[in-house]
Amino acid sequence: MVAKGDLIYASASDSGILEKGECGGAVTAILKSALETGLVDAVLAVKKGYDVYDARPVFITNPEEIAETAGSLHCGTLLTPKMIKKFLNGARDMKIAVTLKGCDAKAMYELAKRQQLNLDNIYMVGLNCGGSVAPMTGRKMLTEVFEIDPDTVVKEEIDKGQFIVETADGQHKGISIDELEEAGYGRRANCQRCKTKVPRQCDIACGNWGVIGDKAGNTTFVEVCSDKGVDLVAKAESNGALKTEAANPKGVEIRAKIEGSMLKLADKLRAKQFAEMGTGKERLNFIMDETSRCIKCYQCIENCPICYCVECSTKKGHLVTPGQVPPPFMFHLIRYSHIADSCINCGQCQELCAMDIPNALYMHAIQIEMQDMFGYEPGVNMDLPLLALVEEPTERKRLSDTGSDQIFDIFQEE
Ligand code: FAD
Ligand code: SF4
Ligand code: SF4
Ligand code: SF4
Ligand code: SF4
Repeated sequence: MVAKGDLIYASASDSGILEKGECGGAVTAILKSALETGLVDAVLAVKKGYDVYDARPVFITNPEEIAETAGSLHCGTLLTPKMIKKFLNGARDMKIAVTLKGCDAKAMYELAKRQQLNLDNIYMVGLNCGGSVAPMTGRKMLTEVFEIDPDTVVKEEIDKGQFIVETADGQHKGISIDELEEAGYGRRANCQRCKTKVPRQCDIACGNWGVIGDKAGNTTFVEVCSDKGVDLVAKAESNGALKTEAANPKGVEIRAKIEGSMLKLADKLRAKQFAEMGTGKERLNFIMDETSRCIKCYQCIENCPICYCVECSTKKGHLVTPGQVPPPFMFHLIRYSHIADSCINCGQCQELCAMDIPNALYMHAIQIEMQDMFGYEPGVNMDLPLLALVEEPTERKRLSDTGSDQIFDIFQEE
């Protein structure tokens, strides 16, 4: 019987799922069983759309449709938690299972502590994540470095430090990620800085690091992180959908080494990227210069998991003069100050910025400085942030009832 804290090798019993799955198809088998056994009402997962660069979120209630989501999309840079808030009423009235990369997992916690999601109703199926590649960078990289027409690619994977593609006519080509990144391609800049490689804040964390010997390539490494994780795995086992065994101790050792070296690399790349912005006034000038091409499209706010307010301060005329493009610098300062302690480095505000402004870079840099000063690390647990607004209608009512102008008092009161 599986228990919290177990490290297991798992694979799907169904040969079709095993074949289509990225590793052992364990995630797909677990999601299908969760639906079949009534553990959840629905699954939010990601599947290939038009091509390998088109990762689409899918909401599934029919277990027969789950197999369509098997496989990993490394050009899938979505962040699903805000979709749960916006379109699924924060999972307040249904139980769902959702697949989550590290940044997704952190966004779940930040939204939950702001009362925007009900984590009790959510089964968090974590995916280890070495990084994702922005679709446009991916296409450019394939054309310019791989010398392959990106439209002919039918499969991509990241394995043993290489980005590997397969074309419709059976060509395989792999190039080391380090080499690609030195040439300015490869993973998104925020992924290069990311240190959430195994999302242990999820109920289970699934990946391929540590699967060795004849199991490599056909087995998923599953870390069981919570009692809900035990339920997910146990239901799939008792449903006959999942085969499990204890992970090979040598594999566990190798996995820890890989994770350790990824964390060291992220530290190195953080230092490099942050240094490029300079410090103090120089950094301020960098931010002012970059944001001077803003067209006020609001995508950074719309997609940031920390931006959830009903009435955004950037839309208040007394704070940001309306009708000006580029907007006054106050527009960016408001976000900068509101997100500072809680940025989870998901990269959405940069990825989706119409003007390619490196918003995530300076947001992440200030968050790390605040973390070093005050110790608050966002997205790892339900600890409350230093400077967050709570759910806005409640907060406005409290301010109006008490006459207080201290928006952060509520955290001290609880
Ligand atoms: P499957 O049964 O094939 O199921 C995969 C599930 O992942 C599906 O439910 C699908 O909806 C979901 N999914 C696919 N793409 C995305 C996406 N972009 N965002 C959210 N959900 C998605 N493991 C490692 O050990 N090391 C790594 O460096 C690593 N990097 C990864 C990078 C990315 C971008 C992704 C998406 C995954 C990565 N993984 C990594 C996890 C690994 O690829 C497998 O997803 C995991 O081992 C589960 O394998 P499986 O066969 O059980 O999954
Ligand atoms: Fe993966 Fe981290 Fe990049 Fe998110 S930010 S896609 S968890 S490497
Ligand atoms: Fe993600 Fe940008 Fe918001 Fe940070 S500021 S959490 S990188 S969208
Ligand atoms: Fe707007 Fe600030 Fe709320 Fe974000 S956190 S939505 S910038 S008021
Ligand atoms: Fe400005 Fe970019 Fe934000 Fe749009 S996404 S409002 S262009 S910073």
